[in-house]
Amino acid sequence: MIRVLFADRAENWPRYKAPLAHALAQAGVRAEIVLPDAAAPDSIDYIVYSPMGPVQDFTPFTRAKAVLNLWAGVERVVGNKTLTQPLCRMVDDGLERGMVEYVTGHVLRYHLGLDATLAQQDGIWRHDDGVPPLARNRRVVMLGLGALGAACAQSLSGLGFDVTGWSRSPKQITGITCLDGAAGLRQALSHAEILVSLLPDTPETSNLLNAQTLALLPKGAAIINPGRGTLIDDAALLAALDAGQIGHATLDVFRVEPLPPAHPYWAHPRVTVTPHIAAESRAETAAQVVAENIRRSEAGEALLYLVDRARGY
Ligand code: NAP
Repeated sequence: MIRVLFADRAENWPRYKAPLAHALAQAGVRAEIVLPDAAAPDSIDYIVYSPMGPVQDFTPFTRAKAVLNLWAGVERVVGNKTLTQPLCRMVDDGLERGMVEYVTGHVLRYHLGLDATLAQQDGIWRHDDGVPPLARNRRVVMLGLGALGAACAQSLSGLGFDVTGWSRSPKQITGITCLDGAAGLRQALSHAEILVSLLPDTPETSNLLNAQTLALLPKGAAIINPGRGTLIDDAALLAALDAGQIGHATLDVFRVEPLPPAHPYWAHPRVTVTPHIAAESRAETAAQVVAENIRRSEAGEALLYLVDRARGY
């Protein structure tokens, strides 16, 4: 019998208890799931981890064979010097579908000009304002073509949008123009009417959207950032919004969360703040990923979604 530690916040245990037990049984893994303080750290075989949970020092977990993160983002754990075990991030169908819905919804909002439509209460029948562009005439750029970025890009492409994606390594995705490298970034930004950022937080992506790169976007472009707050130089974005270079920004993630009430983003007329709700791991589907990785580890098979510690994601 192996021992699995559930090291997320205690309030999440009721949501995960039954799905984890069920998924482990389905995967054919005989396991006892324990909560922090209920078992000696050196008796734990696997750690189901969340950055919000109680485990921050992995040193006492001398027997642990892997740390299985319930979050897609790993920036809060990847640099932990006490972590010597393999670290897996979460790639979960529920998380992916949630992100696809959030991104698609906000892209459609910009594409259709819904904010202006919803604000119309002046009795003016604006029928002759011109023929609006179709999705195929709208250029959307996705920064990051990983599990989430690729799924969002494909969904938008399926709706007909003209989608370009940018990633670190070259990619081929049906229906998406895939770019990489510094020249690829400049090319992608230069025609991004709607820019979506789904990059991880690493030293290389920090402040990727800054005064210089924001200036490459077509004037009036919209930005949607459900990636990480560190991707954006906040002062540069606020200046670009005030100058009209950026038409609107929808921001789900911030350097400091919760976003402090006095932060200028809250009151800015061309910023929409959402409280880090773009996508959540769902207990039923996330538990299956955790169980499958434990099964693999016990069978001597390669782990899924292993984090490259040197790359940082
Ligand atoms: P992922 O599968 O690891 O994909 C990351 C993508 O970013 C990959 O395409 C990668 O390129 C690219 N990338 C990384 N560093 C780069 C660099 N320096 N230059 C160019 N491209 C770079 O991650 P994911 O599962 O799609 O998740 C993406 C991020 O979404 C997470 O890290 C997290 O921060 C965020 N997230 C937010 C929420 C929310 O609720 N707001 C929820 C879940 C996740 P390669 O493909 O070449 O490696």
